[in-house]
Amino acid sequence: MKKYNFNAGPCVLPKEAVESTINAIRDFDNTGIGLMEISHRTPGWERLMAETRQLWRDLLGIPDTYEVLFLGGGASTQFFMLPANLMKKKAAYLQTGVWAKKAAKEAKNFGEVDIIASSEDKTYSYIPTGWQVPADADYFHITTNNTIYGTEIRKDFTAEECNGVMLVADMSSDIMSRPVDVTKYGLIYGGAQKNVGPAGVTFVIVRKDILGQIGDRPYMNPLPTMIDYRTHAAEEARNISMFNTPPVLPIFVMHETLSWIKNTVGGLEAMNALNVKKSNMLYEEIDRNRMFVGTVTNKEDRSIMNHCWVMAPGYEELQNEFMEFAKERGMVGIKGHRSVGGFRASLYNACTIEDVEALVACMQEFEKRRAAENNKE
Ligand SMILES: *Cc1c(COP(=O)(O)O)cnc(C)c1O
Repeated sequence: MKKYNFNAGPCVLPKEAVESTINAIRDFDNTGIGLMEISHRTPGWERLMAETRQLWRDLLGIPDTYEVLFLGGGASTQFFMLPANLMKKKAAYLQTGVWAKKAAKEAKNFGEVDIIASSEDKTYSYIPTGWQVPADADYFHITTNNTIYGTEIRKDFTAEECNGVMLVADMSSDIMSRPVDVTKYGLIYGGAQKNVGPAGVTFVIVRKDILGQIGDRPYMNPLPTMIDYRTHAAEEARNISMFNTPPVLPIFVMHETLSWIKNTVGGLEAMNALNVKKSNMLYEEIDRNRMFVGTVTNKEDRSIMNHCWVMAPGYEELQNEFMEFAKERGMVGIKGHRSVGGFRASLYNACTIEDVEALVACMQEFEKRRAAENNKE
């Protein structure tokens, strides 16, 4: 049976990227040696690293004043690596989910953390407004897409909205889903495994001039070599960042995935149009189907990546039945996070219109079957 992968991460990747990786694992770049067995100092690999960085620059329009780094450790490592590099005394955090909360927790080791607003009171089902960033903060941290709760900040905050404070963002689960004005941010980071590759590589886009300014802060000062972003940026002249052995396999898959976005999809405007279309299809069904109800009530806060819904009042006892029904039709990974319950379907870049159609059809069929059962009774 065909499987439809709606996992929240790691998640579905473009078929083309998976196929070309399989070939490269057998023979990388006509070297007669497999991708996992080559030296990362071979010219073919250095070229691939440079190309991958260039794909990032081309797709997002990243200016030369920024570094693009590929690191290990996942987004979770950035929760402390970011404050280690950027925090002198104080930072502001917008707490829109558990990932944002975890990021803030790590920052507390480095100085004062001001949680300027939180939506924890309503299980993070909305993006708080009306907050103000303290002008003396070293940076203002946001999580643009809240993977667990299905909310998203789908715009780049202006300098006025940030009160002149440098904006930094965890974009793990919506990077490369839409165009972003990188120049509005001091730093953007994320794990690759939600939208740009497999687990094992973490991307960091950082403005060069903000590094090396932690002053006399007592904690983690001086920075351990591996924690200092500048270590990984040092080989910029050759357009590669390889202080130590990079995660070769995940970077290769990322290269293939980004090539797919650029050449097959046609860039981020086209990617965004496709993602919006898929997302609308599913939200329309969630809103139309009387058996279901979306958990994010403010429509403008809804994520176009992760879609969360629960059984509508009166139908709660049918939750497991729908889960089973969907599973029988090949739906994978639609169980909601335990903190939200219900269902979550992640429609990342490589998820197709056909995949969404199949899920929508499954929801409609379930409703019809229920109606037929009611008529019999
Ligand atoms: C998944 C996720 C993380 C954690 O990423 P790891 O690479 O597993 O550390 C952090 N932030 C967001 C928004 C995520 O979706």
